[in-house]
Amino acid sequence: MSFQNPVFIPGPTNIPEAIRKAVDMPTIDHRSPLFGEILHPARANVRKILKSASAEIFFFPSTGTGGWETALTNTLSPGDTVLAARNGMFSHRWIDMCQRHGLTVEVVETPWGEGIPAERFEAILSADKGHAIKAVLATHNETATGVLSDIAAVRRAMDAAAHPALLFVDGVSSIGSMDFRMDDWGVDIAVTGSQKGFMLPAGLAILGFSPKAMEAGKAATLPRTFFDIRDMEKSYAANGYPYTPAVGLLNGLKLSTEMLLAEGLDAVFARHHRIAEGVRRAVGAWGLTLCAAAPKLYSDTVSAIRTPEGFNATDIVARAAKDYGVAFGTGLGEVAGKVFRIGHLGSLTDVMALSGIATAEMVMADLGLPIRLGSGVAAAQDYYRHGAPAKQAAA
Ligand SMILES: *Cc1c(COP(=O)(O)O)cnc(C)c1O
Repeated sequence: MSFQNPVFIPGPTNIPEAIRKAVDMPTIDHRSPLFGEILHPARANVRKILKSASAEIFFFPSTGTGGWETALTNTLSPGDTVLAARNGMFSHRWIDMCQRHGLTVEVVETPWGEGIPAERFEAILSADKGHAIKAVLATHNETATGVLSDIAAVRRAMDAAAHPALLFVDGVSSIGSMDFRMDDWGVDIAVTGSQKGFMLPAGLAILGFSPKAMEAGKAATLPRTFFDIRDMEKSYAANGYPYTPAVGLLNGLKLSTEMLLAEGLDAVFARHHRIAEGVRRAVGAWGLTLCAAAPKLYSDTVSAIRTPEGFNATDIVARAAKDYGVAFGTGLGEVAGKVFRIGHLGSLTDVMALSGIATAEMVMADLGLPIRLGSGVAAAQDYYRHGAPAKQAAA
């Protein structure tokens, strides 16, 4: 593996030099006011990135998965019912976690490659007259399939059914890279981690809780200790933490959120869209298709690319690592061996993306697929030259 090449996995993402330096800091006393000078600005910046005026922001030394556990255990009680669609590996794993916590999951089986079926949700919620469903779980961006779901449509479905359930959104591979509107969409809990859009190493679960979610916590009885937001809330008020915080990561998060806000969220989203569109042009030039079933589902953070029948897509990932020192993502679960993934989120430029496209091309040609060298690169170049003016990441 080469440490010079960018990675093209959909997390962890490439870490800008300035963020690496911010994470690598001397020990400070986390019970001193200095800690508050890191914690509070980071919380305020994350609140802006979530587009919320009122969310309580929490950071746990964990990952996105710990963020899910935080959402469930702080708001729900054993035996509660939740509603979720299974349309990929990450929504599947969230459903599995609910079941292991003794929750009843109303699962809407959805083809991998499709988004959350909001109209099915509306029908189920409308039929739930007794309001047995306490929460709706939505995976904003299914990282396994490269499918972006419409969270505003999920909210409209809930409102149309006049259903009071909480709305929990997994934004691990969308927040900080694609538009996320916590308040506009009526999201009660937003979950993400440090190692995707925030361009940090793994190690933080990052959450936003709406006032309604905070209120639900008072009656919730699922066991929680490490992930108890009540302890966090109390400690934050005193510039502290209920245990030892990951200070370096939080210092990195303060910087990464400053960088995203300085670039401008709209510019960050436009950059991701442009890079992703170049990758999609390359895929088209190769004569291949995406796992995502329709253009409105295309993710700007990850593309899952179908390979021809009878070909093992995982070979592409293995050969790229072995022969060129470049990392792509494998297919997961139902699409294992059928797709390979190009992650294009976080600290990335058009020029970096071109190197990934060129590498994928070389590997596919090496493995005997009928790919003409340069075809995908040229399609992406053509788009990057003529696309919206490049506003590159401050890397
Ligand atoms: C990466 C990812 C997760 C898991 O996060 P971890 O930080 O690995 O625990 C969850 N959901 C989605 C959509 C992801 O992309």
